[in-house]
Amino acid sequence: MNRFLVLTSVLVLVLGCKNQSKEEVDTSDKSVHWSYDGETGPERWSELEGETHCNGNFQSPINLVNYKVSEDLEPIDLHYSEKTILHDVANNGHSIQYDFEEGDFLIHETDTFHLKQFHFHEPAEHLIEGVRYPLEIHLVHQNESKEFVVLSVMAKEGKNSKPFELLESYLPIQKGETKLIQRPFDISQNLPQNKGYFSYNGSLTTPPCSEEVTWIVFKQAIEVSLEQVELLKYLMPINNYREEQPHHGRVIYSTSF
Ligand SMILES: [Zn+2]
Repeated sequence: MNRFLVLTSVLVLVLGCKNQSKEEVDTSDKSVHWSYDGETGPERWSELEGETHCNGNFQSPINLVNYKVSEDLEPIDLHYSEKTILHDVANNGHSIQYDFEEGDFLIHETDTFHLKQFHFHEPAEHLIEGVRYPLEIHLVHQNESKEFVVLSVMAKEGKNSKPFELLESYLPIQKGETKLIQRPFDISQNLPQNKGYFSYNGSLTTPPCSEEVTWIVFKQAIEVSLEQVELLKYLMPINNYREEQPHHGRVIYSTSF
C-alpha cells in the first residue's frame, strides 16, 4: 500500500483522537475510534470495543463458496416505493451513508424490516466464489426487535449509472459532514435485474459486529462507471472493507434462479 496514504490516515487518526487518551474515552463514544488499518484496525476491534462480537463465530463478511442451492428460497419480498424520501447523506469517516425516512421495507420470514440507510465499501467485502468486486453497497434494514437484514449489491465497472449520478450530485462531502437531501429516491433502481441471491447468518462488518444479521447478497452485479467508483473511493477511507471471516460450519444458501 502507498506509504504516504498510510501515513496520512494515521495522522488523521491521531489528530482526530488527540483530546481523548485511551483512559479518558467515554464508553458511549467507543464506536468513533476504530479504523480499517493500523492501531485501531480490524485485528484490534474486539479489544478496542469492549462489548462487541467482533471475535464471535458468526462474523461477516465471508467468501460465498460451497453454498447449497435451495429450491425453497423465494424472491425477496421487497416493498420499495419511488416516493420514499432520502433524508440526508453523511460522511461518518468510515463510509458515505445515505439515510432514508420511513417508507421502504421488506418482509423476511413474516417479519417487517424497514430500510434505514445504505452505504458503500470499496472494494467489496463479500467475495463471490473468491471474486472481489470493486464496490459493495449495503442496504441496511431493521425490525422492531433491532435485528437486521442487510441486502448487498455488488457493483462492477461498466456504463454510467443514472441513479448514482443523483446520489453523487450531493458529493463531495467532508468527514463528519451531513447534507440534507429530502427528495424521493427509488432504491430499486440500484438493484440488479436478476434477483437471485445468496443468504446466510452473519454479523455487521463494523464494530460492534453484532451477530443478528441475515445477509442477502445478490448474485448479479450492477454497473457503475469508473469515475463513479473513483469519487466514492476518494471520499472514503482507503480500502474500507473487513477481511473475510471463517465460516465456522455455517450453511450458505443460494437461490436456484
Ligand atoms: Zn457495510
